Amino acid sequence: MKKFLTTENLTIFAILSGIGFGVFLPELALKQEIIGQVFLALLKMLIVPLIFASIFVAIVNLGSAEALKNIGSKAFLYYFSTTALAVFLGLIVVNIFNPGVSLNIIPPKTAPEVATFSIEQFILGFVPTNIIQSLANGSIIQIIIFTILLAIATLHTQENYRNNLINFFSALNETMMVLAQWIIKLTPIGVFSLISFVIAEKGIENLTSLWLYFVTVVVALLLHAMITLPTLLYFFTKVSPIRYFSQVKEAVLLAFSTASSSATLPVSIEVSQKKGGVSKKSAGFILPLGATVNMDGTALYESIAVIFIANLAGVDLTISQQVLIFITATLASIGAAGIPGAGIVMMVIVLDTVGLPHEYISIILVVDRILDMFRTAINVWGDLIGAKILDKIIQKQF
Ligand code: ASP
Repeated sequence: MKKFLTTENLTIFAILSGIGFGVFLPELALKQEIIGQVFLALLKMLIVPLIFASIFVAIVNLGSAEALKNIGSKAFLYYFSTTALAVFLGLIVVNIFNPGVSLNIIPPKTAPEVATFSIEQFILGFVPTNIIQSLANGSIIQIIIFTILLAIATLHTQENYRNNLINFFSALNETMMVLAQWIIKLTPIGVFSLISFVIAEKGIENLTSLWLYFVTVVVALLLHAMITLPTLLYFFTKVSPIRYFSQVKEAVLLAFSTASSSATLPVSIEVSQKKGGVSKKSAGFILPLGATVNMDGTALYESIAVIFIANLAGVDLTISQQVLIFITATLASIGAAGIPGAGIVMMVIVLDTVGLPHEYISIILVVDRILDMFRTAINVWGDLIGAKILDKIIQKQF
């Protein structure tokens, strides 16, 4: 019995019963939002110190800027190629299902408020001007850049200074992991609350008119998760994807429940090391970076949503326009933050490149939160597989 009552099993039970609770007792489900919010806040509390410490420790363990360059370039190759494969798959599946072709939905006159995008801002957004401010704002990508530079600089200082910093960050890292383990124990309660609230608030009846669109996205995401990524995992590591999934599934389930790769990060780091057998230096470097940069699910989703919108608007996209979508969807997913709804904000860039009106975003917004849960689960699964593959490559080299 005790063996059965693991956090993972309880989390699966929490997801299923949370859906039931949200459908049948929506008023109650709406009232208990605070429980899920507290759980999310506790997870978010860990993110900044954990990223800071884990990236620092991972890089000093790698030992040199040379080694970092080596693994960093491989990580980016992995991120980029799996994202591209995901977008490609999305484009194929949406062209087969054509979910928008026979639908007749008129968009509202006004477009939803969405942030504008400029490439200059995008690039500047990576560079911290004031690290204290970046830490306070939780600007993850800026924290990552600063920590990478700090860790490399540390490797160039005198031994006593170097050791002081390494001891400090190693201690912080270990302590944050202990804290993470405590908070992880609350996952079933937090997940139950989050899921039942979302279902009660968004209502599953909204899915009816957009069901084919919904199914198209979910089928494409599942194909990527169950065929493309596991094939890569097996090819590079000879590890059974089913076995690896069962070891790290807690992080994937949490990603599904929170729709946030960043909030899931403490759990991804913990389970990949403790259960999935990924080394500390790989998990500590690849997972934080992947949580913001590597989003296969989001990229795939962007490509499907844009083609769906084109179909709704009665616009026939040429092959060269689809190639443009391929490129911008990949870039948009890199720029998206690991928080709920980030993908839909970045969608504006993809719509703009092929000249589609923003008003149509309102239509897909109705089902976005539920689809966000699916795509975030795939984002995190992609990161976890990346960590395992790159870990294997590092082990071979060092
Ligand atoms: N919610 C996603 C994530 O955190 C990003 C998105 O909106 O697609 O990974």
